[in-house]
Amino acid sequence: MDQPRPIILYIEDDPASQHLVDRVLTRYGYQVTITGDGLAGMALARQLRPDLVLVDVNLPSMDGHEVAARLRGLASFEQTPIVAVTARSTPGEREQALAAGCSGFLTKPIEVSSLPGQIAGFLQGKAERLDDAERSRQLEYFNQRLLDRLEGKVQELQSANQRLRELDRMKSDFIVLVSHEMRTPLTLISGYTRLLDAQLGQTGGQTNQALQEIADGLEMGTSRLNRVINEIINFSRVTSGTLDLALGPVRLASLVEQCVAQVDELCRQRNLTLHVHDLSGLPVIKGDGAQLRIVLENLLGNAIKFTPDGGTICIEGEALPRAVRLCVRDSGIGVAAGEQRHIFNQFYRLGDIQHHSTSKSAFQGGGLGIGLAMARGIVEAHDGRIWIESEGRDPERLPGSAFYILLPTIR
Ligand code: ADP
Repeated sequence: MDQPRPIILYIEDDPASQHLVDRVLTRYGYQVTITGDGLAGMALARQLRPDLVLVDVNLPSMDGHEVAARLRGLASFEQTPIVAVTARSTPGEREQALAAGCSGFLTKPIEVSSLPGQIAGFLQGKAERLDDAERSRQLEYFNQRLLDRLEGKVQELQSANQRLRELDRMKSDFIVLVSHEMRTPLTLISGYTRLLDAQLGQTGGQTNQALQEIADGLEMGTSRLNRVINEIINFSRVTSGTLDLALGPVRLASLVEQCVAQVDELCRQRNLTLHVHDLSGLPVIKGDGAQLRIVLENLLGNAIKFTPDGGTICIEGEALPRAVRLCVRDSGIGVAAGEQRHIFNQFYRLGDIQHHSTSKSAFQGGGLGIGLAMARGIVEAHDGRIWIESEGRDPERLPGSAFYILLPTIR
């Protein structure tokens, strides 16, 4: 039976060396995998479990010594030959490689005639050693270098984070600016639409029937656009923490009633059964009714969107010692455990983007991906909590989802 060909992982960013080593070792029956990056090399090593790792010392991201030290620390690489390759001929280069955990050291340019023999030697267990004193001196130096690099990387990360935060703020500012800019022409269009509507109302008649339909369509489109723009502006206020709550007494039962009335017809069309438990006994809370209504509208809207026709949606409430808990439960497709934390993040949408439609009601219709982030922002601004419980996502079995909000009664 044929012997399996030993796997050599070569981590090297110089194309000429890559080509040379690949050619020579492949000819000698080795299976060679090459990558030009230290981090990618680590990932490949874990995946391939090579018989030998050849690693260039000068690499982007992690350098060769770091790769060697990291691999050597993994149980599955305790015995694997790791051989450093370098063009540098500075004194101490060999000692540094050995201290980092390498079994040996090859210099560039690589000697084509001796390479196969050297590789075979390492595969048979050849390993160079440092005496203890030299090893501990080199390790100290290696640690110092690692700390220097770490400090540099932390600084790089901090500035990258700072830049990302700035970009995020610029993106939010831009969205708000565009939304405000859109409001002006939209007000104009809405005004003319109402004017047209009023004129048609006065004249009446056969020809106007068709025009009336156009006016109605315009009115529907502009109010929908208005809603989207308001949603975006409100969303940016909520997520940037600039939302000023207009606090007052809020009766959750009547809020729920208003939201339910809004979707009643839609549920009939989609053959969805809507059960609202008796919420009249819930205590009055102090909150911003308009904002809490947005929360409920979003939860209810999602329950409708993610429940197929014929399903059931339930709204329940419970008075707890110092809080009220509301639950919107549906018999829809559910949310996978791994996704449950993320759906409250802005712009997070599950499923196929192909499903995206501006519909607020179609089954699995996509939205802007801001509804739950906004709901969380509003609930948290009320010192409350929002969470989901679902056994997972399954469009066939329909495990359903339950979204809970907890709002304190005393603030
Ligand atoms: P969208 O505007 O896309 O609805 P949301 O922030 O409201 O954004 O929701 C984020 C994602 O969470 C949705 O795209 C959907 O995948 C998932 N989701 C929200 N509510 C439900 C639900 N009741 N059932 C199943 N999935 C849901």
